[in-house]
Amino acid sequence: MSSEKNSQKGNFSRIYIEEDAYAYPDTQKLLDRFRKADHITVDNYKQVLNRNNQNWRLQKKNQALILAVRRDNFLYEGSDIAPDFGHQAFYYNTLVLNCLYDCSYCYLQGMYPSPHTVMFVNNEDFISHTLDRVRRGPIYLCISYDTDLLGFEHLIPYSNRWIETSRANPDLTIELRTKSANYRAIRHQQPADNVILAWTLSPEVVAEKYEAKTPGLKRRLEAMKQAISDGWKVRLCFDPLLHIPDWKEHYSHLVKQTFSEISPDQVADISIGVFRMSKQYLRRIRKQRQDSDVLMYPYEIHDGVASYPDDVKSEMTQFVAEQIADHTTEEPVII
Ligand code: SF4
Repeated sequence: MSSEKNSQKGNFSRIYIEEDAYAYPDTQKLLDRFRKADHITVDNYKQVLNRNNQNWRLQKKNQALILAVRRDNFLYEGSDIAPDFGHQAFYYNTLVLNCLYDCSYCYLQGMYPSPHTVMFVNNEDFISHTLDRVRRGPIYLCISYDTDLLGFEHLIPYSNRWIETSRANPDLTIELRTKSANYRAIRHQQPADNVILAWTLSPEVVAEKYEAKTPGLKRRLEAMKQAISDGWKVRLCFDPLLHIPDWKEHYSHLVKQTFSEISPDQVADISIGVFRMSKQYLRRIRKQRQDSDVLMYPYEIHDGVASYPDDVKSEMTQFVAEQIADHTTEEPVII
């Protein structure tokens, strides 16, 4: 199997381990699983993740795994460009940094100097800090941030652990956002009212051209359908909408295809958002890859965020909202 295919499945051939991370059972399980990989001890994960002058694209072909211990920042306040779905106390955490997938429009390419995957093995510390915060009032927490967590479930069962934590703590609502079709990894769990499984859906052409290594639309829809029929709260995310040639045709087909598989009455909510990214990340990404038209679009910058001009943005969101309105009277959340 090529090194690229290996990294896609998370078959890492190089693992960096922080000295302190050896003491955690997940580290031992992962080292055992990847016995044949090179094991390299480091003082701090940032030595590898943030090493300068790295070729991000080249390294993505042979992504390494870094096992680390998070010492602070167990909870972050939600950013302005991420949707809070009306929740007052909106947080996210970063159990894993970077992703097994390789979407052309992903901001992670500009966030870290390398694509190597960092897994923080002290999940219990994340949970205890979160529950300390929950004791002061209900929170909404996105657990699949700066990564696609469900895509890693075969390696480290964080989604399962957080679903169990939420079920035991009704004031903790979690959102698990994914493009993965790996629903079977959590299917044995009892659905909980305070757990939202959110699938990002894109037209088949977008998935093929701009969402490398992800399961295609059909597989995502199958996973969603199963989750809905098992009783989970499922969120549909048409996000990010991309202004590609014939975008109206593609997004109209996407909405039709989605609601031919799933009844809109069965989903918890629907969100729509156009492409948006911090201008610094976009600048960095453009320096390292000129191969993607989606990154080269002449975006406008407002408050440090690059996105489509306002008229393009409203035309796109309105169009998709109208397509959704053909199937349901529920208003989508527009981000
Ligand atoms: S699935 Fe999400 S986190 Fe992963 S590469 Fe794509 S956009 Fe980035």
